[in-house]
Amino acid sequence: MDWWVSMPKVELHAHLNGSVRNSTLLIILIPSFDFLHFHLLAFELREDLTKFELYYRELAKELGEKGIIVFSEVEHVILKNDRSLTEVFKLFDLIHILTTDHATVTRITKEVVEDFAAENVVYLELRTTPKRNDSRGMSKRSYMEAVIEGLRKVDVFDIDFASTKNGLEEKGKSGQMIDDCVGFSRTKIYVRLLLSIDRRETLAAAMETVKLALEMKDLGVVGIDLSGNPKVGEWITFLPALRFAREQGLRVTLHCGEVPNQEEIHAMLDFLPERIGHACCLEEDAWRKLKNSKIPAQVPHNLSSWSGESFVVWASGLGLHITPEIDSCNNLGLMGNAGLLLSIIFNFAADLYNTNHPLILCTDDTGVFSTSLSKEYAIAATAFGLGKKEMFQLARTAVEYSFVEEQVASKLKDLFDLLDKSLA
Ligand code: IMP
Repeated sequence: MDWWVSMPKVELHAHLNGSVRNSTLLIILIPSFDFLHFHLLAFELREDLTKFELYYRELAKELGEKGIIVFSEVEHVILKNDRSLTEVFKLFDLIHILTTDHATVTRITKEVVEDFAAENVVYLELRTTPKRNDSRGMSKRSYMEAVIEGLRKVDVFDIDFASTKNGLEEKGKSGQMIDDCVGFSRTKIYVRLLLSIDRRETLAAAMETVKLALEMKDLGVVGIDLSGNPKVGEWITFLPALRFAREQGLRVTLHCGEVPNQEEIHAMLDFLPERIGHACCLEEDAWRKLKNSKIPAQVPHNLSSWSGESFVVWASGLGLHITPEIDSCNNLGLMGNAGLLLSIIFNFAADLYNTNHPLILCTDDTGVFSTSLSKEYAIAATAFGLGKKEMFQLARTAVEYSFVEEQVASKLKDLFDLLDKSLA
């Protein structure tokens, strides 16, 4: 097994619906699919994304015929290699049409956690937007209950997802984690939840989410996230809800600087969120502010999630000359020019790394961007020129930037320290 797969990892930025398995979407999409045929197909699809896109296209067509969506508006979204930021969010809407019922939410939660555990993620901070879906009798609360049910159903691995004795504590076999990790066959994952506010929502809806998060603290909800299409809405709309969350003891993380809205970026940094995601379109003074603030950042090593637009803006911000060659390698297409991209990323990330700015490797959306945390670690190791020991250290420090309670954080750090000695 490659070391970036077997080493323990910490995931702090993963969206539930962005991390759904392709095979699960297929099963939901084609309920009457012949089982054997499906397995063969699912196996093939691991390597062949175009086939999966065909099914997305079929889904879009079907939903178009039923009048649920306008097919011509989403057809282009499905072409995976040239999706713009706006199109990525249209794809999320398509996924939500498939997944927003209680049973499916439970299923995808269980699977997403098991997928992270399978690649040795020892701590997962999973975020999701509580959704109301009247046609399925779903409220934000019942959506979250379905998520918790999914956590409870995790059975392939031991799971700890609740923070206090009042909650549904699922401690697994204490002590086993360290033993297993020394042998690199860990069986336990700690999971905590962040509730996301979507930028399309109203302040009232955002407040409902924060209140729900407070009520579910005993079930492992540790914070609030602001996400959604960065070109939609104004973050200031949600400021009262974010302030309220903070006053009540919830930690706050913001998607910040995904697009070059400098006014918003400055205001978000002034708010001093406990962490920010993306931070890819910061101009020089915002960049300086970020570095002075020491706010932990999940930055573009999460490179699978880059839209071409963000990449071009960010590269220009660094004073890099955007050749047509670079310009054309947007999103997953970037990978084709990996050498070029990695050297550019190196400049940027190395700056954060070398100045000891808190830096976290993450996946964002393993399903939508066809990635995994191990893959992101492998890419980052190459990009930063780091070895196993340094990557291990990067994973360990992520524990410090997590929102988990101190008791669990110290267990996780002990685990890393023990392993560090065994690696020496
Ligand atoms: P969910 O919250 O479980 O439904 O996960 C999908 C949702 O996460 C999307 O609809 C977006 O609101 C949000 N999301 C996922 N990836 C991104 C991103 O890269 N930027 C901003 N929001 C995102």
